[in-house]
Amino acid sequence: MKKYDLIIVGGGAAGMFAAFAVKEKNPSAKILLIEQNEKLGKKIYITGKGRCNVTNACDISEYFDNIKTNPEFLYSSLYTFTNEDTMNFFQKQNVPLKIERGNRVFPKSDKSSDIIKGLARSINNADIHLNEKVEKIDKFNGYFNVSTNKNKYESPKLIIATGGLSYPATGSTGDGYNFAKAFGHKIMELKPSLCPIILDDNNLSMVTGLTVKNAEITVYINKKKEISYFGDFLFTHRGISGPIVLTLTDFINDYPDKAIELYCNFKPAVDIKELEERLLKDIDKNPKKELKSILKNYFPESLADYLLASAKINPKLKLHEITKDLRKNILNLMTSYKFSYKNIAPISQAIITKGGVSTLEINPSTMESKIVDGLYFCGEIIDVNGLTGGYNLQIAFSTGYLAGKSVFE
Ligand SMILES: Cc1cc2nc3c(=O)[nH]c(=O)nc-3n(C[C@H](O)[C@H](O)[C@H](O)COP(=O)(O)OP(=O)(O)OC[C@H]3O[C@@H](n4cnc5c(N)ncnc54)[C@H](O)[C@@H]3O)c2cc1C
Repeated sequence: MKKYDLIIVGGGAAGMFAAFAVKEKNPSAKILLIEQNEKLGKKIYITGKGRCNVTNACDISEYFDNIKTNPEFLYSSLYTFTNEDTMNFFQKQNVPLKIERGNRVFPKSDKSSDIIKGLARSINNADIHLNEKVEKIDKFNGYFNVSTNKNKYESPKLIIATGGLSYPATGSTGDGYNFAKAFGHKIMELKPSLCPIILDDNNLSMVTGLTVKNAEITVYINKKKEISYFGDFLFTHRGISGPIVLTLTDFINDYPDKAIELYCNFKPAVDIKELEERLLKDIDKNPKKELKSILKNYFPESLADYLLASAKINPKLKLHEITKDLRKNILNLMTSYKFSYKNIAPISQAIITKGGVSTLEINPSTMESKIVDGLYFCGEIIDVNGLTGGYNLQIAFSTGYLAGKSVFE
């Protein structure tokens, strides 16, 4: 049995940051970091569409509005290791950063691999075992016994940083939940968040790949208007995705058994009366033209075709043939188009796992378990989750840092 001062399970954003924090505070500690993949930070590669939105540069106090589950649990960690600390960290690791729209921070190179290299450079203090899967963890006489598919190890301290359940090919196999459960921890229900929406819609091929800018999607739960989201979204081959859709899934996944309806206003910036007058003018000016041809003034052609097909309106109709009712119908398509909502995509396709180890059983000032001495958690495995914009990686860094900093205090 090999002995260490600390074993970290999981070499993702949180696990690597925990190792870095130990080095900063306790450089002589003997650390083992165990990662089941062939490389560190496999999930980071796919973040931000391969560019890695590594944090958000907003004022740290604004983070708590963008954290949807248990934001108060993160006060200590986010103030101990802030977004500014993250930016300084990467600059020190020779990874220059840039700030884009919405204060989203990316590596200047637009390569997530540079973020991983920076992280990996910072943890030369640890023994790193790749291709090794932790299978079982017990605690006897004050020591954690960690069994992997290759070996057995022992340490008085243990950090579990095994991530969530989304994108399992990146190593998010959910093992950490079982380790936590075996130690008596409660796991709050695991649900997908920030994920695409599946539509029951045979016309999607007409718009697949199309990005719609500056739209507004309104969510109705059991016929009651609940909330609206303004911004961009994207049609996929199975439904819709993109910024506002991802964000609204964090809201609707709290209503699994309710009737959900989604309405899209493609022209939220224009008053509906103004839009109607514009449409009337277009119709009066061009009585012999086809309906399809004037809709090009309002939408990309493929979207106009799709909307007319969805409403079963003949695109070749001459404008002088348009009745008042039909005009109302067209206006409705523009401002209150009902998506044929089916469901939200499964957790395997979500950006983040909602739920996880209950925050009531973790000390927020240290990340130590309140049930088992010497056991710490960090990152996505904990029941916290943020919106898109770099908040989730910052949660992983901040909780990882606090766990690593606290282990030997
Ligand atoms: C498509 C996509 C895009 C995203 N984009 C962004 C973005 O741009 N910005 C942002 O802030 N967030 C983004 N996220 C979310 C972000 O990637 C996660 O919040 C973050 O990676 C969580 O870090 P973690 O260390 O907790 O978990 P992970 O990064 O999942 O790391 C956990 C590690 O533990 C290892 N592990 C698990 N079980 C075992 C075991 N039994 N033995 C050994 N090792 C094990 C896994 O292999 C894995 O490497 C994105 C997520 C996805 C899926």
